[in-house]
Amino acid sequence: MSEAEKRPTNFIRQIIDADLESGKHSSVQTRFPPEPNGFLHIGHAKSICLNFGIAQDYKGLCNLRFDDTNPEKEDIDFVNSIEEDVKWLGFEWSGETHYSSQYFDKLHGFAVELIEKGLAYVCFLNADEAREYRGTLTAPGKNSPYRDTSVEENLALFAKMKNGECKDGECVLRAKIDMTSSFMCLRDPILYRVRFAHHHQTGNEWCIYPMYDFTHCLSDAIEGITHSLCTLEFQDNRRLYDWVLENVSIEVTPHQYEFSRLNLEYTVLSKRKLQMLVEENLVNGWDDPRMPTIAAFRRRGYTPGSLREFTKRIGVTKMDNTVEIGVLEACIREDLNDNAPRAMAVLDPIKLVIENYPADQVEQLTVKNHPSDETQGTRIVPFAAELYIEAEDFREEANKKYKRLVIDKAVRLRGAYVITATRCDKDSDGNVTTVYCTYNEDTLGKNPTDGTKPKGVIHWVAAQQSLDAEVRLYDRLFNVANPAAEEDFNSVINEDSLITISGAKVEPSLVNAKPEHAFQFERLGYFCLDNKDVKSDKLIFNRTVGLRDTWAKTAN
Ligand code: ATP
Ligand code: MG
Repeated sequence: MSEAEKRPTNFIRQIIDADLESGKHSSVQTRFPPEPNGFLHIGHAKSICLNFGIAQDYKGLCNLRFDDTNPEKEDIDFVNSIEEDVKWLGFEWSGETHYSSQYFDKLHGFAVELIEKGLAYVCFLNADEAREYRGTLTAPGKNSPYRDTSVEENLALFAKMKNGECKDGECVLRAKIDMTSSFMCLRDPILYRVRFAHHHQTGNEWCIYPMYDFTHCLSDAIEGITHSLCTLEFQDNRRLYDWVLENVSIEVTPHQYEFSRLNLEYTVLSKRKLQMLVEENLVNGWDDPRMPTIAAFRRRGYTPGSLREFTKRIGVTKMDNTVEIGVLEACIREDLNDNAPRAMAVLDPIKLVIENYPADQVEQLTVKNHPSDETQGTRIVPFAAELYIEAEDFREEANKKYKRLVIDKAVRLRGAYVITATRCDKDSDGNVTTVYCTYNEDTLGKNPTDGTKPKGVIHWVAAQQSLDAEVRLYDRLFNVANPAAEEDFNSVINEDSLITISGAKVEPSLVNAKPEHAFQFERLGYFCLDNKDVKSDKLIFNRTVGLRDTWAKTAN
């Protein structure tokens, strides 16, 4: 990570500073605890950068722990993609990957301890009854009729649950806390339920699985986590987190701190909703470049540094807010403007014939890979009598504002000569198919001396030598800023969120393009080779992000 990525400051870091200063902790241990039930998204990137960033800056450790207590919804493919995404973002976790399921034996022991202390009981209320007994936000709950079962009987019942003698949903183990608490999570929360499900880590060893609230705090304690950072929806649950740790025999007591989730305009950031998009085929999988997943950003040419920079810019607070897409796009644009090599591509080609250029000549022009970064070197771009230019870069007539090619007017071909258009051919619909021009051979890297003033600079590729390409232009997936509020995604999907251009032409050097590594296609935006789809007859490029208007004008 570069020196330029300076230390951020936020309320959590202030707490850590105070804890280190007071001697409450002598070192810092954090963790990132994803549930392997989907791909990581940009919201997770915020949490990753926070947890791993703190560990890095305080010379502490950060664990990667899969919070894997819902076997039916989880999958080893998600485990693998999450590990890959964390590494790609530039972070290393401490030691082996951890799994909450590694602690199932210990967690079971703590549950038995709670039963022995008279603090947990097996409850046979069905789901409807349990709801009724729970009460509401305004009305207290009622004690379960099973609340006063003896310790011995509870131990026997819990053993039955564990031994597979109870059916799915027949009973649960509940903590005995307070059915009248104003915190719903303290109204005798469920600690264990019966699930005859195969687990991706523990196989068929268990048919009871612990609940998140019971598992998380204990896993944190087992791992010696000092600061357990999570999002605000767990604020109330902190009472339960603390209750469990106070009532079992465990020495380490981590503390939970909550920060606000990232919300991004025109995007949904909930795995459940992202999964709906995938299942309803509204996108082509979790890594569809229109998704807000890390895998999708990567496929689209975003860099790890740009996502880290984004999380730095949005900061960490307790305030609910929604970030504009522009903030994210600015991070990748700034990165790629500085770092992406330049190349030329023509998305909507028409022929340009240079009538005074020798028909059989091909010149190998040396062109800079970056306008200001000399270290990026140069490349060879072939130039010949027949080129392609963008259809929109030519008009038969135009006013002064049009700084491109017009009949009897001159423009510079980027990195090559100044040309003057003379005439054009059109098809039966009146569309221009070929533009004819002459070139001034004394203008390679020099201004014309004959008084011609080129109106602007346009990009081009050599017709014969160019490569065929498919270019995919992405836009926001939704038409509304807050799609999460919609009942039905179908009605707010942006129909133009993917535009596929199948007849593009790109310069031959792009045969060496590496997937995920973006180029600036001169005057068009940033694009990278797709990392997944392959076609035998053409290269497939994804648009990372468009150029800012001002850059398009100043680019030369
Ligand atoms: P989702 O709501 O998308 O399903 P989750 O919280 O259930 O997310 P987890 O896999 O449990 O997903 O999340 C792992 C960590 O990432 C948690 O600590 C969680 O708080 C954090 N996280 C998830 N979404 C966001 C977000 N939008 N902004 C910041 N942190 C997030
Ligand atoms: Mg979660």
